[in-house]
Amino acid sequence: MRANPISPSVDFEQDGVQHGHLKLPYSRDDSAWGAVMIPITVVKNGAGSTALLSGGNHGDEYEGPVALFDLARTLDPARLTGRVIMVPAMNYPAFRAGRRTSPIDGGNMNRVFPGKPDGTVTEKIADYFQRSLLPLADLVLDIHSGGRTLDFVPFAASHVLPDKAQQAACAAARDAFAAPWSITLLEIDSVGMYDTAAEAAGKTFVSTELGGGGTARAETCAIAKRGVRNLLIHAGILQGEPDRRPSVMLEMPSADCFVSSEHSGLIEPCVDLGSEVREGDLLARIHDVERSGQPPVNYCAKRGGILAGRHFPGLAQSGDTIAVVAVPG
Ligand code: CA
Repeated sequence: MRANPISPSVDFEQDGVQHGHLKLPYSRDDSAWGAVMIPITVVKNGAGSTALLSGGNHGDEYEGPVALFDLARTLDPARLTGRVIMVPAMNYPAFRAGRRTSPIDGGNMNRVFPGKPDGTVTEKIADYFQRSLLPLADLVLDIHSGGRTLDFVPFAASHVLPDKAQQAACAAARDAFAAPWSITLLEIDSVGMYDTAAEAAGKTFVSTELGGGGTARAETCAIAKRGVRNLLIHAGILQGEPDRRPSVMLEMPSADCFVSSEHSGLIEPCVDLGSEVREGDLLARIHDVERSGQPPVNYCAKRGGILAGRHFPGLAQSGDTIAVVAVPG
């Protein structure tokens, strides 16, 4: 296979702190011999495990970039054993545009793995993670939140995996992150995900959904910053005492956790995030916005549990996920 065109300005084998870029040549109208410059920081101290930390896989999710730009600035190599690789904004063009997907090629980073070295900009970034960064890593954390069209209770997640020893290692790392909620997910649409690529490579992988709505809150930024440090301590890479907080265990074991809309219109939330719901409870109503006097369409819980995710903000299209119910795990 072709070599990836990205060149890193950091040396992954060098001890100490290095701030640099993944430089991806991108010739365009406003920069003939230009490049996409993706910030990367490597902090290393001797031999040991490697953690690969990313945010901005989707460009409109901010807890990951906040936590990782902060960590890149403050992580002290004297307190490390091993290596931490940080890419605060993985889909950098999307991040700069404040969009889920890349404004260059429309690429959704979490649907293009394993990527292509001679593909689109998004596919080239994915290929670099797939073939250059993932092989360096033992532990992989990808910090998500809901972006502009979803909002979640702040949770860390691990997946149901065929290899139960790997599943247990991922769950232990997720629990070490110590978000207020911890969820075991059966992924319903795993093709092309970075998660799937990292797990297929045998890595210990943790993801999160820490909030959403196309913004970040003080609470969710604090959860991300605390969780990253807890995870590095758990992995034996960072010295120190973890800041463990209580976490509620949940599962999303099947497709009936997800409620999607078959109508377009105005959403009226009937339950707030974190609330308990019973099977059949009204979750949301969708009002016709083209004429008044019409009855709304009711969307109800297909199973009991906790409302863990919801559509954001007020207008929905047919096919949107409007509610996610997780069950006590
Ligand atoms: Ca996301």
